[in-house]
Amino acid sequence: MKIAILSRNKKLYSTRRLVEEAKERGHEVTVIDVLRCYMNITSMRPSIHYRGETLEHFDAVIPRIGASVTFYGTAVLRQFEMMGTYPLNESVAITRSRDKLRSLQLLARKGIGLPVTGFANSPDDIEDLIAQVGGAPLVIKLLEGTQGIGVVLAETHKAAESVIQAFMGLNAEIMVQEFIKEAGGSDIRCFVIGEKVVAAMKRQGAEGEFRSNLHRGGTASLVRITPEERSTAVRAARAMGLNVCGVDILRSNHGPVVMEVNSSPGLEGIENASNKNVAGEIITFIEKNSEPNKTRTRGKG
Ligand code: ADP
Ligand code: MG
Repeated sequence: MKIAILSRNKKLYSTRRLVEEAKERGHEVTVIDVLRCYMNITSMRPSIHYRGETLEHFDAVIPRIGASVTFYGTAVLRQFEMMGTYPLNESVAITRSRDKLRSLQLLARKGIGLPVTGFANSPDDIEDLIAQVGGAPLVIKLLEGTQGIGVVLAETHKAAESVIQAFMGLNAEIMVQEFIKEAGGSDIRCFVIGEKVVAAMKRQGAEGEFRSNLHRGGTASLVRITPEERSTAVRAARAMGLNVCGVDILRSNHGPVVMEVNSSPGLEGIENASNKNVAGEIITFIEKNSEPNKTRTRGKG
C-alpha cells in the first residue's frame, strides 16, 4: 500500500516508528508536513500540492496532527478524504476530540463515566458553577489546552473564584471540574485501536504535582486495567468516532471517569511502558480496514 503520514517532523519517535513498521510490512510510506500542503478546492477533481508538486494518490493516511495545527491540519486531511484516501482517524473525529467540552458532551450522551463538570460564561454565575461541581478543591481547564498546560488546581473557594474570574476576564473558554483527589496525581492511558485496548499505562505526576502528563515530568509504568476500565475506553473511542486514540481515565471513588480522548496519542511512552509493538498494530489495522472512499464523512464534515 501507499501510506502517507501527516507529521511535521520525521524525527519524532511516533513518526519514526510508524515509518519503520510500515516499511517492515512492505508498504511505501511518505512523511508529509501538513503546513507545506496547499490545495485547489475549486476543482471537481480535488488534489493536493506539496512543495511545488502535485501529490500522488495514497491508499491510506495517518494523521499525526499537533494541537497547534488542528485547523489547517484537519483541512488538509479532509482533502485527502475527498480524494478517496482512507484516513486512520477521520477529520471530523479529530476536530471533535480537540474541544474538551464538546468531547465531554458526546461522552455524557453515551452514558460514559465522567468527572462532574460545569461551564459558564458569565462572572455572575461563578458561585453556582463552583457549587455545581461540589466546591473547592476543583480543577479549572482551558478548553483547548494540551500537555497539562492550562489545567489549574484551585484548592480553596477563594482561589477558584479568582482564577475563574481571571480566565473569564481574558475571554478564555474554560470548564470547571470536580477534583478527583483519590487518583493521587495519576491517570491511566488506554491505547485503543479499533475496538480493542492494545496497551495501557499508568502515568504518575512528579512529586507534588497533580498533573500526570509526561510533558510535565510524569513517569509511566505498566498497569493492569479492569474490565470496566477496558469497556469504558472502548466505548469512549467509539463515541468520538476515533479508530486510534488514547483514552485517559482517572480512578475515582465513583468508578473510572474519562478525562479526555487524544486523537494523536504518542507512541514512545506506551511502547516503552508496555513493551508492545503499538506502531505495528496500527499498520495492521490499516491493512485490515483501509478501503477507498471508506470515510463516513468523505470530508463532508
Ligand atoms: P491536557 O489536555 O492538558 O493533558 P487533562 O484534562 O488531561 O489536560 O489534564 C491534565 C492532567 O491533570 C491529567 O493527566 C490528570 O493527571 C490531571 N487532572 C485533570 N483533571 C483532573 C481532575 N478532574 N481531577 C484530578 N486530576 C485531574
Ligand atoms: Mg491529558
